[in-house]
Amino acid sequence: MSKKLTSRSEDYSKWYNELVVKADMAENSAVRGCMVIKPYGYAIWEKMQAELDKMFKETGHQNAYFPLFVPKSLFEAEEKNAEGFAKECAIVTHYRLQTDPDRPGKLRVDPDAKLEEELIVRPTSEAIIWNTYRGWIQSYRDLPLLINQWANVVRWEMRTRLFLRTAEFLWQEGHTAHETKAEAIAEAELMNNVYATFAENFMAIPVIQGLKTESERFAGADETYCIEALMQDGKALQAGTSHFLGQNFAKAFDVKFANKEGKQDYVWATSWGVSTRLMGALIMTHSDDHGLVLPPTLAPNQVVIVPIYKSEEELNAINEVANDILKDLRSKNISVKYDNRDTQRPGAKFAQYELQGVPLRIAIGPKDLENGTVEIARRDTLTKDIIPLSNLIEVVDNLLAEIQKALFNKALDFRDAHITEVENFVEFKSVLETKGGFISAHWDGTNETEEKIKELTKATIRCIPLKNKEEAGVCVYTGKPSKARVLFAKAY
Ligand code: AMP
Repeated sequence: MSKKLTSRSEDYSKWYNELVVKADMAENSAVRGCMVIKPYGYAIWEKMQAELDKMFKETGHQNAYFPLFVPKSLFEAEEKNAEGFAKECAIVTHYRLQTDPDRPGKLRVDPDAKLEEELIVRPTSEAIIWNTYRGWIQSYRDLPLLINQWANVVRWEMRTRLFLRTAEFLWQEGHTAHETKAEAIAEAELMNNVYATFAENFMAIPVIQGLKTESERFAGADETYCIEALMQDGKALQAGTSHFLGQNFAKAFDVKFANKEGKQDYVWATSWGVSTRLMGALIMTHSDDHGLVLPPTLAPNQVVIVPIYKSEEELNAINEVANDILKDLRSKNISVKYDNRDTQRPGAKFAQYELQGVPLRIAIGPKDLENGTVEIARRDTLTKDIIPLSNLIEVVDNLLAEIQKALFNKALDFRDAHITEVENFVEFKSVLETKGGFISAHWDGTNETEEKIKELTKATIRCIPLKNKEEAGVCVYTGKPSKARVLFAKAY
């Protein structure tokens, strides 16, 4: 392995980029703003997908797939949505290339192959999906319609970062249709809850559930629910969103149903999504200056076994013990890798697994064979222990559960220590500059104040927490009356 990572305190952003590349998760590609997700990173994403997919199905959703391209006339049908995404769309205008008469061996766009109607590469799929739903929904018997799609989308982002913000990203997008407003709101809330449960229980990332303000709302939504997480550098990250879309898309695409009284009514809608940005959240919540730290639920290998040997004979004896351990751990559904490559020294293997965040490392040497022990090392605390082979399976099982819990609690303590209530704008600016994190403050509820605060401090309203208690106060900027606090932060 190449030399050490830049430390977080030295340059957080550099640390992040180096870590993603050195841990072999992803790299920049030849395409501006688009990344290559490498096998190790993709294995982690697949674990997230599998768990989310299970949770979606348990809540009654089915998967389907819709086209990558959206004809422009459909794209512009829901005006607010179209306007919101217009600035970051990739557009297909032609369907053929031809040899360039002026540049031998090169190609150019065939001017005769212009599309009659431009195609938008989907930045989100409401338009194509709601145009399809018109044919699927006639009566209340066809509702609710609970569909999810796993897909890629393209948003022409100007400032990109591996995983956190890319021009093409992978995500899932749920699109549901309901008879009533109340049902659609309940669905949007349910899925935001699913995201929160997933983030906390599976990714060990504490999140705050809340509502977006009007200016941060999804284009075309009546309400946007979100989960917000806090990264180690004190910046917030929007980790997932769930939108109540009202009847906006039903009206734009003329999706009506006959209700129980036989009357025609527009359908109520939701959409919700999480993306490969979650990989960034994972990295920036748990990792340290030595590299990635993975919660056991997401680790492609939860345990790695490294033999320490000098002779072939020693290796053979260790292989035997290791193979028994592999069998036992796998029978408990613990994923484990035995790394007995002879092309790498143990030190290099240790460094690699530390960088890649394998939760537990077991080392077995000749002394261990004599004593019936192994050495077990925790990635999260970097502590080591010698334990008897006879207890190994139980110890590993318990340690994995303990690590999962410890990572969540550590992140929760950090997050909670970085929510600061402030009462005036001087305090607001000072906390933002010195400590960062979430600032809990009163706000007068207007776009103008939100915009002004953003302009002056770069902090935005991350959310109006769902668990907000009513508390009369005055706006931190204008001094006008306010009924409750909201959370501000600088954000990714
Ligand atoms: P939205 O459709 O805008 O509500 O976004 C759905 C999910 O995708 C949210 O969790 C966003 O944080 C995430 N997301 C939005 N833009 C990007 C991007 N450029 N790269 C990665 N994830 C993104």
